[in-house]
Amino acid sequence: MACAKDTARCDLEYWRKRQDTPLCCIAHLEEIMRDTHAALTACGVDYWLDYGSLLAAVREGGKIIPWDTDLDIGMRAGQWPQLRDAFAQLGQRYYISSGGPSYQRVNYSKTNLVHCDIWIFEPIGAALHCKSLPKDDFPPAWVESRGVRPFVGIADCPVPADPEGFLELRYGERWKIPLRSGWAKK
Ligand SMILES: [Zn+2]
Repeated sequence: MACAKDTARCDLEYWRKRQDTPLCCIAHLEEIMRDTHAALTACGVDYWLDYGSLLAAVREGGKIIPWDTDLDIGMRAGQWPQLRDAFAQLGQRYYISSGGPSYQRVNYSKTNLVHCDIWIFEPIGAALHCKSLPKDDFPPAWVESRGVRPFVGIADCPVPADPEGFLELRYGERWKIPLRSGWAKK
C-alpha cells in the first residue's frame, strides 16, 4: 500500500532487506526536492546537492538512487534570514524540523517523515565543518562556485563546480560503483 501525507512513511524494512525504495516514497522525495529547490532559489539560499542526491545527479542521470531513503543538500552557515524565508514558504506544505544550527529537515508532513536533510557547514580553521557530520570536513574551495546538473526534473540543480572531484573526496573512487550496502555507501 502506498504511503501518503496523512499516513506514516513506508517502513524502512525494505531498506534493511536491501530492496528498492517504494515508488510512493520516491515520488514524495521528488516533490519535496522540487519545492525545496524552488523555495531556496527564490529566497537566495546558496546550496548544493550532496551525498546520495549528488551521486544521483552525477551518476544516475538525475534520478533518485532506487534504494535511497532521503535527500541531502549542503549549504554554508550565515544564511539564516534567507533560509527562514524559504521555510516560511515550505512550511505551508511541509513540516520543517530542526536539528539545531547544523541541520534542518523538510519532512513530507508531520505524519509522513520522508524528508530532505539540509546540512549546514561552518568554517572551522581551514575546513568547512558540520557538527552533525563531524567526519566530513572539507576545504571550502570545493564549494566556492557552483555548476548545475539536472535532478528529479529540475534542469539546473546547484552542485559543486567539480562534482566528480567532490564525490571522490566524499567517497573515494568507489563513488562510481553503485553499492547497496548501507546508509553511508550509496
Ligand atoms: Zn511510501
